[in-house]
Amino acid sequence: MGNTFDIRLESLANPALRAPVAGSAEQGSAAPTRGTFYLETFGCQMNEHDSEKVAGLLLARGYQQVETVEAAGLILYNTCSIREKAAQKVFSRLGEYRGLKGDGKKIAVLGCVAQQEGEDIFTRAPWVSLVCGSASYRKLPELLAQVEAGAQRVTGLDNDTDETFETEMTRRDNPWRAYLTIIEGCDKSCAYCVVPFTRGPERSRDSNRILQELKQLADFGYSEVQFLGQTVNSYSDPSARKMKFSELLIAAAQVPGILRVRFTTSHPRDFTPDIMEAMDAHQAICNHVHLPAQSGSTRVLRAMQRSYSREDYLEKISLIRAAKRRTAITTDIIVGFPGETAAEFDDTLSLLDAVKYDGVYSFKYSPRPNTPAATMAGAIPDDEQSRRLALLQEKQRAIQAETLQRFTGENFEVHVDGKSKKENSWYGHSSCNRVVSLNSPHPDLLGKYVNVRVTGCTANSLLGEHVVGVSGAVLAAPELD
Ligand code: SAM
Ligand code: SF4
Repeated sequence: MGNTFDIRLESLANPALRAPVAGSAEQGSAAPTRGTFYLETFGCQMNEHDSEKVAGLLLARGYQQVETVEAAGLILYNTCSIREKAAQKVFSRLGEYRGLKGDGKKIAVLGCVAQQEGEDIFTRAPWVSLVCGSASYRKLPELLAQVEAGAQRVTGLDNDTDETFETEMTRRDNPWRAYLTIIEGCDKSCAYCVVPFTRGPERSRDSNRILQELKQLADFGYSEVQFLGQTVNSYSDPSARKMKFSELLIAAAQVPGILRVRFTTSHPRDFTPDIMEAMDAHQAICNHVHLPAQSGSTRVLRAMQRSYSREDYLEKISLIRAAKRRTAITTDIIVGFPGETAAEFDDTLSLLDAVKYDGVYSFKYSPRPNTPAATMAGAIPDDEQSRRLALLQEKQRAIQAETLQRFTGENFEVHVDGKSKKENSWYGHSSCNRVVSLNSPHPDLLGKYVNVRVTGCTANSLLGEHVVGVSGAVLAAPELD
């Protein structure tokens, strides 16, 4: 996602900071070293987490992860095809590695581009040995065994599965915040979106297994979990417990050691009052909702097949605003959908004014293969799409600047997840997912929860001072954000 709300934490790329998983090669697994692999990920958090699981699977098989293509025997690209540019990036990366197969290296294309392009990838890039979509990851061990045995064109392209991707081991990149996919695929059929084609039908994980994994994560020292799903709140427990999504959030918030529970992405249609009630009643459920609107025009929403109107969406916003806890709201917007008139685009601008989002991820509409919107009349020229995108982003910048300034003087509990180069300077996230930079003379705040008084802001983040003692647990003082 084009990200203005969150930041990437460079420190987390440092292997020394990564939490090893029990039984991993880092912890001295008995498995013999098989070879080395390099894994590059494109796209969303679900892809990042899939990569963590693929890496865990390879480590369990005796592979070692390396940081460069040059040092690797097996090169894997976990790809994204949500917009055309993302898919093109993958082919240009593959072009860079033409000839590597001659060096004895094996190249694998995983994820959404693999599923979308299928065997055509072998024609465009004959140096690729394996093409595997995310719905086939559970077959990866056997597919990799075929590649290791010298097979040239191995594929895993099933898409009509009812299984989820379960691994015994996951190689998590962040030592404090763990991603946990609770629902895979998507059954909604938004007219612009490739996800139902590339990730297959909706399948939810058994709540018992989710909570068991979460307890293990807490035992390993993770204090924050982020539940993932394309439509995370459409979760439908396949176990006999039949837990509702809100009940799962509450159960997660009650796991000893878990101090923050996040979830993304919520679909507006399935955002029900019980979710807000759970958030109000349980401080550990973070006060942030990512609720993609896509457009502020009911006519465009219908054409997008989003299954809600502008008014329905604003009702969900009222539900969140009426909660006891002040909750941050972020969204995704597509500009220049086929047939979007100037007045309909103005409706989207007015939605920004009505909601006052804390962050907006905005995109120019990009036609995708197989989707109904790709053949719709009324394509908006690229320069007009760019103009609308710039207007929308300018408006959001102004809204955010006003919102952020209002926090001066308030206190936030911040989970510190990085150290800046400047002396005594750290950064982290509030429960509502705001990035906060803070000054503190404390020698080591990484992974700690601290109380911060806000003294100012930049365009996208808050600045503050560490004011209370360091705590490894939730602060005694009530959260003020
Ligand atoms: N499942 C989420 C939902 O229902 O909103 C979104 C998942 S999608 C990976 C992330 C965002 O990409 C979408 O919310 C949408 O704004 C954007 N997106 C998806 N398809 C797109 C397309 N064809 N062109 C431009 N943006 C697109
Ligand atoms: Fe795509 Fe719509 Fe499913 Fe989100 S809900 S993944 S936008 S089809």
